[in-house]
Amino acid sequence: MKIVVAGGGYAGLSCLMEIADRLPDAERVLVDPSRWHLRQTRLQEALRRSLDGLRTPFSELGDQYGFRHVRASPSLSRKALARASAAGRLAGEGIDEDFDALVVAVGLRPRPRPRQARWVGLADLKGTDGRRLVRRIIEEAGGASDRVTIVGGGATGLQYLFELRDALRREGAKTRLALVDPGRRLLPGQPDEFHAYVAERMEQSGITYLGGYGLASAGDGELELKGRQGGVRRLRSAFSFSFTGMKGNPSVLETAPTGQVLLAGEPSERIFAAGDCSSYRGGGFDSPSAQAAVRKGRLVAANLERFARGGRLKSYDSPELGFFLSMGVLDGIGWVGDRRVIVTGSPAFAVREAIEARYELLLRGIDTFGLL
Ligand SMILES: Cc1cc2nc3c(=O)[nH]c(=O)nc-3n(C[C@H](O)[C@H](O)[C@H](O)COP(=O)(O)OP(=O)(O)OC[C@H]3O[C@@H](n4cnc5c(N)ncnc54)[C@H](O)[C@@H]3O)c2cc1C
Repeated sequence: MKIVVAGGGYAGLSCLMEIADRLPDAERVLVDPSRWHLRQTRLQEALRRSLDGLRTPFSELGDQYGFRHVRASPSLSRKALARASAAGRLAGEGIDEDFDALVVAVGLRPRPRPRQARWVGLADLKGTDGRRLVRRIIEEAGGASDRVTIVGGGATGLQYLFELRDALRREGAKTRLALVDPGRRLLPGQPDEFHAYVAERMEQSGITYLGGYGLASAGDGELELKGRQGGVRRLRSAFSFSFTGMKGNPSVLETAPTGQVLLAGEPSERIFAAGDCSSYRGGGFDSPSAQAAVRKGRLVAANLERFARGGRLKSYDSPELGFFLSMGVLDGIGWVGDRRVIVTGSPAFAVREAIEARYELLLRGIDTFGLL
């Protein structure tokens, strides 16, 4: 049996690691344009530590888990997948691999950022030395009258906001920070305490919070913001970060609860999807997150084993286990198990570290995910 996995993020890699255990004789190929697996959930930490510490070369992981890595970025539109399914072959754009099963795990793409100088977005940050970026910000926007703005107050924007606050403080920079977010409150999917805690920390840190405003246009050193009620406001910003959400790569794939991609409304026999690029029917936790990506990747691997042995495929039913937001070094907020039991401050930071450590153990071959 030959299995091709497109995308070596949390979902694709978890799937490959599990396949190594379940189907050790299968030929395994990873297709990913990158040279490294990136532990994206810690990306904001690159503002204080080396980006290399967050990346593991696929060549190393391939040796450990018995897969071959092909650097390519094929288009995986529904049309392309229908063609691949019919031919049993993924071809074009630097790749030509036949397969018995294909797993699509290509994640999402950040929405484009304004093209002006002195703007960065998630796509830039994935390949940027964050400590050098902090030095650049201080050189270009390090004065007490300068302001750095984070546009987009989702979990990623907030994690960057507090890491940046700490990084600037460490360097003694006087730069002011602002957060612009169109929502009525921050983190609307989480309990109300999350908004209150984050807003209080911003106030204590002197961060300007412009809630209810979205970016209308980005000029030279000035942002035009549009209020939810219609008002317009201008904000001087010497440097800005864009975290305005994600979109399909190229689209989010609807799948059956078994992880099989729905093509023309029917579950494909040999094309599966996992991670942020997939939307699973059925009852399991389906939001874009590393948590769901790992569990979907593992379910797909288990179903590939059943597929190979002619067994009945299992449905995805993993519940949401918790949510943690890091807020710089030694602070955070989150819940685990029960949304009413909220942990803040250094205990929250410690729980988040434990969650990250669990994934790092998995990368080293120590699997604690089967336990919970
Ligand atoms: C700063 C930050 C912090 C986060 N913190 C958390 C957190 O604390 N907890 C949490 O649960 N989630 C968190 N997330 C979200 C989490 O990182 C994502 O949900 C997770 O990475 C999704 O995993 P994935 O495998 O679906 O996609 P990804 O991890 O994005 O991996 C996709 C892979 O596909 C490859 N690829 C892309 N296009 C192609 C193509 N055409 N062909 C082949 N390969 C392709 C990419 O190179 C990449 O290796 C965070 C995200 C960010 C940005």
